[in-house]
Amino acid sequence: MLTEHLCEVSTERRTTRQKEAIKAVLKEQDRPLLPEEIHQFALKLVPTVGIATVYRSIKTLIEDGQVCCVEIPGQSPRYEGTEKGHHHHFHCRECQQVFDLQKCVEGLRKLVPSGFQVTDHEIILYGLCKKCAG
Ligand SMILES: [Zn+2]
Ligand SMILES: [Zn+2]
Repeated sequence: MLTEHLCEVSTERRTTRQKEAIKAVLKEQDRPLLPEEIHQFALKLVPTVGIATVYRSIKTLIEDGQVCCVEIPGQSPRYEGTEKGHHHHFHCRECQQVFDLQKCVEGLRKLVPSGFQVTDHEIILYGLCKKCAG
């Protein structure tokens, strides 16, 4: 019984460490990342972490409300921390990276015909990032 209990504790601790590593990666990179990218960066913090664990940890972090999914049409889902609040994204057509935009756009409601109610919106800008444009 005791062995079992200790085993549970260590699994819990390991999971926490992996989740913390993923959160640290997202914070440091400061842009939405693919699970494969999260895995590459997380390996530097937890050298033994596997891709399956990264997927599992992302799922748990989403359930905890700490991570959310960023969907760019035609692209695999990316993930980012939820602490930033409402913002939008820029997709670089060249290097395929997705960057955060700091603000929203004012006056969106004015675009909608009278009598319509806006519940939410998505804005994605496309182009070349500074590195690719230069
Ligand atoms: Zn780029
Ligand atoms: Zn907005």
